[in-house]
Amino acid sequence: MRVGIIGAGWAGAAAAWQLHKKGHQAIVFEAAPQAGGRARLHQSKALGLTVDNGQHILLGAYRSTLNLMQELGLDMQRSFYRFDLDIYSADQDFRFKTAPLPAPFHLLGPLFTTKGVPFVDRFALIRLQRYLQKHQWQTTQGLSVQQLLHLTRQPTVLIEKLWHPLCIAALNTPLESACAQLFANVLRDSLGGSRADTQMLIPLRNMSDLWVRSALRYAQMHYGEVVRHIQKRHHGYSIHGHALDAVIVATNSPSCHKLLQNLDSENQNKAFVDSLSKFDFNPIATLYLKPDRPWANPHPMLMLEENLNGLAAGQWVFNHAAMAGSELGHTIAVTISYSNRLQGANKTDVTKAIIEQIQAQCQEPLPTIIASELITEKRATFVASPNLHRPTLQTPWPKLVLAGDWVQNPYPAVLEGAVRSGIAAANALV
Ligand SMILES: Cc1cc2nc3c(=O)[nH]c(=O)nc-3n(C[C@H](O)[C@H](O)[C@H](O)COP(=O)(O)OP(=O)(O)OC[C@H]3O[C@@H](n4cnc5c(N)ncnc54)[C@H](O)[C@@H]3O)c2cc1C
Repeated sequence: MRVGIIGAGWAGAAAAWQLHKKGHQAIVFEAAPQAGGRARLHQSKALGLTVDNGQHILLGAYRSTLNLMQELGLDMQRSFYRFDLDIYSADQDFRFKTAPLPAPFHLLGPLFTTKGVPFVDRFALIRLQRYLQKHQWQTTQGLSVQQLLHLTRQPTVLIEKLWHPLCIAALNTPLESACAQLFANVLRDSLGGSRADTQMLIPLRNMSDLWVRSALRYAQMHYGEVVRHIQKRHHGYSIHGHALDAVIVATNSPSCHKLLQNLDSENQNKAFVDSLSKFDFNPIATLYLKPDRPWANPHPMLMLEENLNGLAAGQWVFNHAAMAGSELGHTIAVTISYSNRLQGANKTDVTKAIIEQIQAQCQEPLPTIIASELITEKRATFVASPNLHRPTLQTPWPKLVLAGDWVQNPYPAVLEGAVRSGIAAANALV
């Protein structure tokens, strides 16, 4: 079977590899000159370095993604800095760390050692977990994360220091408008899983080098080709003159909406096509800093206290000098999820405010910063709101399916969701 794939992000690449494994030919059309999509390479002139368009983190619970990488022969040891969950504030006032013990004893760590939260308040962690377990990790339809936290009587200190930053990092959506079910799914598969599931993985190499290029090596690649029309044929479809037996649309939702609107010229599937335009988006910004010497801070990842109204908006700071073998050398990365309030702000002012924020909160003085780059992805993820309807991969057209982090899967807009949906789309066709 010849399958056209539109989009070479992680969903499209996973689909191409899955098709290859099952003996089918993938023909991939990618608008950009490179693969990777929202996890692509960025040549930074300012830093004199190739960086990812954003600092990504993977969880040990990303089973499909990690399996795929292993299948493609990636050296996992050299490619990731892997560590037990450790949420440590830069000012060292708060720490939430799992114990290096097999599940469920790894969760005793947060109970006995969480810093900055009175002992009695720590039982709220167990209360939330027991509530979710009792309900088989299913929350009421339409419930927000904030409502879930109130329902399980989470103290303000835990909401501010743990749940708010985790919700923003995982769903890129604030507590009051974030979907409790998606949050519960992430907790179930990470904190509710084994010790390995709970671990975090920071890539030591560029994201595209991890597996995407390797997964696409058997596919026929057409870079720089924006697909606007999918033509129907008697048996199958055609894209840019290539006859195809089936198609996987692995673009973002707005692009998919336009493509299927064009395909549905007679409005026969209008309700389905309209459902693709219901997504809103939130941005993520990443500030890369180049210091004149390695930063002595020994922690690869620290949580920053952000100023919710000002430009000192950094949330997490990553010190690559503290990760042995990182190809980013001494680079420091700062992530700002849900960075809506920075839109329109002057980049120099934002950079200055965040550098001052790090200096004020971290124990080890920051070296002199000799170069920097602030990258903003305006449509980084969809807004993970409680009543969001996500389409299934099947469409009203035969042998035309959807893939992407926004297509129905248990996760918010994350890499694992993209990979799972790509594999599922390929499997649905074959
Ligand atoms: C800054 C940032 C930080 C993030 N951090 C994390 C993180 O730490 N952990 C995590 O799990 N996830 C993170 N994410 C989310 C993750 O990157 C995405 O979930 C994932 O990359 C989505 O992959 P995808 O294949 O579904 O879509 P995309 O990556 O958007 O791929 C779609 C592809 O389709 C192409 N395309 C679109 N329209 C057309 C067309 N008409 N013709 C041809 N090609 C087309 C696009 O060019 C693109 O390459 C982050 C995202 C960003 C932006």
